[in-house]
Amino acid sequence: MAHLFAHARIDADRRTPLANGIGQPLLPGAQAWAAAVIAPDPTCARCLIALAAFGWAGQVDEMALAEMAGVSVRSVQRHRPHLVRAELVAFTPVPVKSDNGRNLGSKPHRYTLLSQFPAPRLTGAAWDQAPAQAASIIDRVRWFTTTSRDERSLAIRSVTWFLRNGWPERALLIALDHTEDRQAYAPGGYLAKILRKLPVEYILPAEEVVTQRTAPHVVDCPICKTPFRTTLTGHPLCGGGFCLEAGADSLPAAPIFKIA
Ligand SMILES: [Zn+2]
Ligand SMILES: [Zn+2]
Repeated sequence: MAHLFAHARIDADRRTPLANGIGQPLLPGAQAWAAAVIAPDPTCARCLIALAAFGWAGQVDEMALAEMAGVSVRSVQRHRPHLVRAELVAFTPVPVKSDNGRNLGSKPHRYTLLSQFPAPRLTGAAWDQAPAQAASIIDRVRWFTTTSRDERSLAIRSVTWFLRNGWPERALLIALDHTEDRQAYAPGGYLAKILRKLPVEYILPAEEVVTQRTAPHVVDCPICKTPFRTTLTGHPLCGGGFCLEAGADSLPAAPIFKIA
């Protein structure tokens, strides 16, 4: 078991075999993906593979990650921004609140492994439906309670722009409704301020790109010829921006997986 794990044949849950039956395309686990991806530097690669051992997304403290990666906590801290800049991982703080809403510091950040691929822009009917979808998002933002029609239609227009640029509804709602502050002073201005902080493009989670069983079209990876499902346009490879098979040859050595 430890051997298979070391070679990323089995994912962190130790149950998921990579090849899942006849006629199914290979659905690699998070670690196989992390091992194949091109990280900014070798330490980043170790941290990414170690992080992937905890799954496509989750919560892990720096000590546990450092131990898994076989590097120091300082290295984990130093290389974290590299992985963020490379659009391989996103971190979100998890605040700990007391009963009366006071901030009591924070738990380990939540992480999501990212594919480096921006979501494709909307086209056709989805493009046309974006304003209605934006209106329904605005209606669900708890603190956005404005009486001015102008302010509301301006907000809808801004959100429409993000939707058409590939941002999923759920991600926008999380970004906008993250605060329960229902007395936002000048909600229109506050909304604009949040939207200005969002990246223009929505980088797809790695899990979505790698395991899109229900994605609309099947293409062959130009390198390994493996068929895979994708929503990406252009000429994606089986791992999104790279070939999972080609990267699998250069798996890093076993010490990284000493917990297994
Ligand atoms: Zn680095
Ligand atoms: Zn491939």
